[in-house]
Amino acid sequence: MSGGHKARKRFGQNFLSDASIIARIVDAINPQSDDNMVEIGPGQAALTRKLLEQLDALDVIEIDRDLVARLEPLREQYPGLHIHSADALKFDFRQLQKAADKKLRVVGNLPYNISTPLLFHLLEQADIIKDMYFMLQKEVVERMAALPGGGDYGRLSIMVQYRCQVDNLFVVPPTAFSPQPKIDSAIVRLTPHAELPHPARDEKYFAQLVNHAFTQRRKTLRKSLKSFIPAAQMEAIGIDPMRRPETLSIAEFVGLANIPVENCPGPA
Ligand code: SAM
Repeated sequence: MSGGHKARKRFGQNFLSDASIIARIVDAINPQSDDNMVEIGPGQAALTRKLLEQLDALDVIEIDRDLVARLEPLREQYPGLHIHSADALKFDFRQLQKAADKKLRVVGNLPYNISTPLLFHLLEQADIIKDMYFMLQKEVVERMAALPGGGDYGRLSIMVQYRCQVDNLFVVPPTAFSPQPKIDSAIVRLTPHAELPHPARDEKYFAQLVNHAFTQRRKTLRKSLKSFIPAAQMEAIGIDPMRRPETLSIAEFVGLANIPVENCPGPA
């Protein structure tokens, strides 16, 4: 697309400008012509064009109306391009599933300011998603992929890994963008589990429990989850109440959330 667009900070606009990085991302995605793919935040179409070269159809969701207007002419060359002038945070991705057996592939160089709420919005719709490839702040990807025991492991790691296999693919330096961000980025692949390895009986309660444990991550479970689960009930399923939340696996958190409610006082 021609230049002239002034990058808008409020929409997290850092446009990819490094052809070799763009090619590497598209290689990782490995688009197949009949994929049901959606790109969040196409911007100036750096990735979009390369994807369209390999796809029959592509849905894109862009919040910036100026950019939407600049994307429109691309439809002449690529009639399979469907542009949604919308906020991805409020977008119902289910409307894009064209057939029950054709799950969505979601890709995007995401605006960093909305990456966490957007991930949670997509995780709610994970049942219709085949895989997701995102460019995110490197630290966010590290937190998503983190294993128990380290400082990076927390609510984000648990809630994402509960639903998806997480693969931290590669780092992208600030020089790959215009304007350049101050931070490193990374590409992550999320593949929703066909069957949840550790299903929680009540997912809302599980999310509440994890959230509560990590808002007080320096405290032991006995203290931080006092209003949810008595220490004796933790011990009964083999979890030492003196442990800190970052030492617990997802299976153990699910174990805590699945303790029958009649044995717990419930959240205060
Ligand atoms: N994909 C382009 C690239 O790689 O050069 C642009 C990436 S830029 C980091 C993020 C893009 O997401 C911008 O085009 C921005 O306008 C768009 N965007 C920001 N917030 C959005 C939202 N809530 N919904 C949809 N698009 C959004």
